[in-house]
Amino acid sequence: MARPTLARVFPQNIRHNLGLVRDKATAARVMACVKADAYGHGLVTVSQALHDVADGFAVACIEEALILRKHDITKPILMLEGPQSADEIAEASSQNLTLCINEWHQLEWLEQAGLNSPLSCWLKVDTGMHRLGFAPDVTAEAIERLLPQIKHSEFVVCTHFSSADLPEDNGISKQLDVFDRSVGEQGYAQSTANSAAIFRAPESHRDWVRPGYMLYGGSPIAESTADDLGLKPAMEFSAQVISIREVPTGERVGYCGRWQAQRPSRIATIAAGYGDGYPRHAPDGTPVFIDGASLPLAGRVSMDMITVDVTEHPGVKIGSKAVLWGDVPAVDALADHADSIGYELLAGMPKRVPRIVE
Ligand code: PLP
Repeated sequence: MARPTLARVFPQNIRHNLGLVRDKATAARVMACVKADAYGHGLVTVSQALHDVADGFAVACIEEALILRKHDITKPILMLEGPQSADEIAEASSQNLTLCINEWHQLEWLEQAGLNSPLSCWLKVDTGMHRLGFAPDVTAEAIERLLPQIKHSEFVVCTHFSSADLPEDNGISKQLDVFDRSVGEQGYAQSTANSAAIFRAPESHRDWVRPGYMLYGGSPIAESTADDLGLKPAMEFSAQVISIREVPTGERVGYCGRWQAQRPSRIATIAAGYGDGYPRHAPDGTPVFIDGASLPLAGRVSMDMITVDVTEHPGVKIGSKAVLWGDVPAVDALADHADSIGYELLAGMPKRVPRIVE
């Protein structure tokens, strides 16, 4: 008997969400971001589920790219961090991977590799994120050095937005302006939009969009829920009630006794904790759905368990199902309570939780 703490993954919902990308960015090709184990949903599962509808897959590093090639993913695979050693260049070329060149030392490795076969490359411009990419004033020089190396393979210039999710003027237009001034006129294929920009900024769609979070049914926009945006959650994280106890008034529950019973209370213990990816900083009152009712977390999150005040719901019993995130509560709502973001909860879900593909 397996521990009934599991994550159900819904590939149909991921396909639905990719359909929404197509509705929004009708002329762009779609580079589906499947890095970080497809935001915790399963790198291979998700990539296989999207193989006939995505135009390519974006990963962070070569390890993720090679797993995809091993599992017969034949579409373009973009390594967003670019090569992390000179050796990766030859391997990327032999596996027909696409490198994102972000830094001068990566360009030097490429020049030193002296490849005879074509290698597709993207080149990143740092338009304001200040994390990776070439400064706008040296971008032309970087492109000039890169192009002879890649021998007429596909070439794309790209950038990444720092604040596309924020409600007020989010900096998309400022960064796009920098981008356009550095590469706009030159006729190269372009890619700028992440999930938030796909919703917010049609002018950013260009030739390739790079959706990540929205594919998994999370809202990439601070002021809108996923439901408002027509997105469907791709994961339901659930566990079972494994103990019920009566706790007298004044008694405390859990580590450091954070929660104290204000009345005779009934506490349900659920077999999922921060060791399963439930956020440790969730405060008392964070909603947990048990048998369809929203019930408040009571006490600190432990490694393997949480405790919930079920006094108002006498029907809750050992074996009752608790939904920690899914349709309700949405992962974004739980993240808000826990001072986190849905991205972190999804990508941080550990291997201990089995993914059940529906
Ligand atoms: N492009 C790049 C370079 C990224 O680093 C990411 C995610 O971190 C994405 C696209 C996808 O962003 P989102 O998940 O917000 O759509």
